[in-house]
Amino acid sequence: MPKRYFVNKLLSATETNIPLDWNYWRAVLAEYSQLIEDRVPPVPKFADGGLYVGTPGIAYLFYRLMKSPFTASHKDDFISKGIKYITSSQSFVESQRARNATDFIGFILGPAGFQAIAAAFYTVAGDSTKADEHLNHFVNLHTYCSPLYPVSFGGNELFVGRAGYLAGVLWLQKELQKPILPVDKINEICHFIVQDGRKYASVHRSPMPLMYSYYDTEYIGAAHGISAILFVLLCCEDYLSKSPDAERDIKKCVDFILSLQTENGNFPCALDEVDHRRRRDEEDQLVHWCHGAPGVVYMMAKASLRWKDEKYLESCIKCGDVIWEKGLLKKGPGLCHGVAGNGYVFLLLYRLTADEKYLFRANTFAQFMTTPEFKRGARTPDCPYSLYEGLAGTVCYILDLFDPKTAAFPFMDVF
Ligand SMILES: [Zn+2]
Repeated sequence: MPKRYFVNKLLSATETNIPLDWNYWRAVLAEYSQLIEDRVPPVPKFADGGLYVGTPGIAYLFYRLMKSPFTASHKDDFISKGIKYITSSQSFVESQRARNATDFIGFILGPAGFQAIAAAFYTVAGDSTKADEHLNHFVNLHTYCSPLYPVSFGGNELFVGRAGYLAGVLWLQKELQKPILPVDKINEICHFIVQDGRKYASVHRSPMPLMYSYYDTEYIGAAHGISAILFVLLCCEDYLSKSPDAERDIKKCVDFILSLQTENGNFPCALDEVDHRRRRDEEDQLVHWCHGAPGVVYMMAKASLRWKDEKYLESCIKCGDVIWEKGLLKKGPGLCHGVAGNGYVFLLLYRLTADEKYLFRANTFAQFMTTPEFKRGARTPDCPYSLYEGLAGTVCYILDLFDPKTAAFPFMDVF
């Protein structure tokens, strides 16, 4: 079986860090941004796929560019471009008919994500009327998190479910520096998530007190899986302090997932793979943000900060080691299953440990994406310019390399 990743020729390198050359990377950012604009113009037909692969994700990119101190001289240009992506995305979002609750509260793949980006974007752009309009839209969607709107295929995960909506609330709170939903509403949504998890776990005799499935698969990783749901719950500290029973159950789940970490540091994609008969061969294991260590690490990092137990930080470090070895993915440069998404784990580890080795690793991953070996050998993703699969995510990653003390995978800030 061919390898899923390029061999990391610097695997045993001991360098600490090499400073990045802004002039070089500024040219790379300009080239990538131009390509994105040319190939994904701001028209409603490209809005489908939300933040994940649609134009709302490109609007997020312009939001990042207009906020970055490194690209501040072009702020006005980024504002006018970003507004075009927001306007065209809005036409698409308003033309869609919702069939169930996830079509309302979907964050990475739905309208809630668009409303959140638009609210943050217009705030920074100085248009408070439009910012309030989108913020009100976003806030009003919280009613669809209630059990009155059950979702049979699984409505608690990150892309379309309650955890994603809450990730949006937490992100907006940080960006706008103000409460978005009253704390009791946030706690109520957490309670619905925990309640559903307990119900599912008991019906399916799960090995954890909380479990969830998405279209009948019990995913572990960040995409559709329990680790992203637990990550979001761990971010809701008021809920944890007021619900010790829930925190106990969450901790049992985190500890169980920790016990699944393989010798080399990775995690299985789904619970059925825990059974040794269905275990993947080592070379077939997925080391992606969506499935595997690069996504589960955010939950472990949050657990480490909350419960101050070394074993969670050790788990994060093991995640970093498997990513260093097997993370130069042939699937492309993106966040979800690409090199930039994996590189973000080194930025997380740098923030957790202050060890400069991780900056070296993060920079190495960025550099590798510009080599002929990668350009020739990597596959082109389905949506090569999008936020989660393509270059828009890569641009966010490069921007974050220049500000590693605040760097965070989009919508998964641990700090
Ligand atoms: Zn993926």
